[in-house]
Amino acid sequence: MSTTNPTELVLPTKGLTGLLVAGSWVQPAAGRTFTVENPSRREVIIELGQSGPQDVDRAVSAAKSAFPAWKTLASRTRGAALTALAERVAGHAEDIARVLSAESGNALRTQSRGEVHGAAEVLRYYGATAAEQKGETLPLGPGLFSYSTREPLGVVGAIIPWNSPVVLAAVKIGMALATGNTLVLKPAEDAPLAVLRIAELATEVVPAGVLNVVTGPGSVTGAALAEHPEVAKVSFTGSSEVGRSVSHAAADRIARVTLELGGKSPSIVFPDAVGEGRDVDALVANLVSALRFARQGQSCTAGSRLFLHESVWDEVVPKLVAAVEALTVGDALDETSDVGAVINVERYEEIRSFLAEAADKGAVFATGEVPPPADQVAGLHPKPVIITDVDNTWRIARDEVFGPVLVVIPWADEDDVVAQANDTDYGLAAFVFTHDVGTALRVTTRLDAGWIQVNQAGGQVPGMSYGGVKQSGIGSEYSIEGALESYTTRKSVTIRVP
Ligand code: NAD
Repeated sequence: MSTTNPTELVLPTKGLTGLLVAGSWVQPAAGRTFTVENPSRREVIIELGQSGPQDVDRAVSAAKSAFPAWKTLASRTRGAALTALAERVAGHAEDIARVLSAESGNALRTQSRGEVHGAAEVLRYYGATAAEQKGETLPLGPGLFSYSTREPLGVVGAIIPWNSPVVLAAVKIGMALATGNTLVLKPAEDAPLAVLRIAELATEVVPAGVLNVVTGPGSVTGAALAEHPEVAKVSFTGSSEVGRSVSHAAADRIARVTLELGGKSPSIVFPDAVGEGRDVDALVANLVSALRFARQGQSCTAGSRLFLHESVWDEVVPKLVAAVEALTVGDALDETSDVGAVINVERYEEIRSFLAEAADKGAVFATGEVPPPADQVAGLHPKPVIITDVDNTWRIARDEVFGPVLVVIPWADEDDVVAQANDTDYGLAAFVFTHDVGTALRVTTRLDAGWIQVNQAGGQVPGMSYGGVKQSGIGSEYSIEGALESYTTRKSVTIRVP
């Protein structure tokens, strides 16, 4: 493997090691390393030190030492630090976006630039709302005064995936720091660099030890963080499988958890969304956006199961195929690419196996194909695929493929399509397309999902609580209410007034 030209990327400086403790990069104790690769070019970008249990312990100790002073700061002062970090992220947005595209494979023009600006928005939001940490009073009768305050929990351990690491880091940093907690953040081993750059910028505006970072494989670094006895809360975003083990580790010491996990989200198109006077091109653009093709479909909220009413099938499917075929797939850093690369060989081969199994079962590929094996390609760029003639019981229609694969299933009866949409272990997002307000209200009420969009397919917005039901998670993020619910505890005080 060759190395990506380092002059092309602005990596974190000041002696980057991958382990940020009390405001400085330090060497991990055991001297083990791991590589970060560019999946578009299949090149090594950098070798980083792997944080083991001893290093996690150091980071947690630093966060614990910084907690008393950070907790007692005026909440608006903590908010000001987050606002200052937001402005630094926005000021370095292009450099961060380029690093993000190189390591994640997400296309620069269609995904990474927007993600970095989204991260700055999230930090600004938590900066502006940090002062909302209000308590309550309770009238208990004459001579008694009772009130409650919102107290931070202590050290939060946050573990994030590689698919949108910058915005997810911003969410974890914003929620934990705004509420007065200190943080040990573990980015994914496949895409830690843009997050490390943000952590480095944070050293300029938050006191040492308030934000620490450990890097390395989940089974080593992530597990050590989730199991650490001094971590009061674990905030995890990633797969449902790992979320389960993180949850067990936290349960052993009665620590709190927030889990943002996987999804298999349905899009349902009603007949009235198509036809006379309707903008079918806009509908198709929303369906493409719902599948998050810009991230190669590697999104927890991807609308990967499309239930299309049989009466509009012939009009919508050809337009959908044409829209997907018009996407340019290529190097994530190339300005002409709409769609970049999937994250690593393991995921690429997993997508291949899903597609090969569906092809064997007789699925029809309306566009795309089973991609060639990874050892025969220069970059990990499977073409977007649309599959029809699939049964909702097949693995490809039930499991999270996490690739650019859209399964289209016809429907005729509303009760039946709602039952099929809900017939999944997940409950993260859903998309409904109808111009009838009654249908929208009825169907959104019946769908089991934490976040439902009607006639659009946008991204998360700061201020709007976001979280899954069923095996898609516990708790909600992106809002100050979610932060107060899950990153603080209530302390009640009753005073007998002499
Ligand atoms: P993953 O669960 O494999 O890894 C996520 C993080 O957990 C990584 O940092 C990894 O190193 C760490 N990890 C792995 N094993 C661990 C262990 N035993 N103990 C502690 N930490 C461990 O997930 P992924 O493949 O990186 O990301 C894809 C998944 O994330 C998908 O399922 C996707 O739906 C989900 N996701 C959910 C949301 C959401 O908001 N609900 C957002 C983005 C991604």
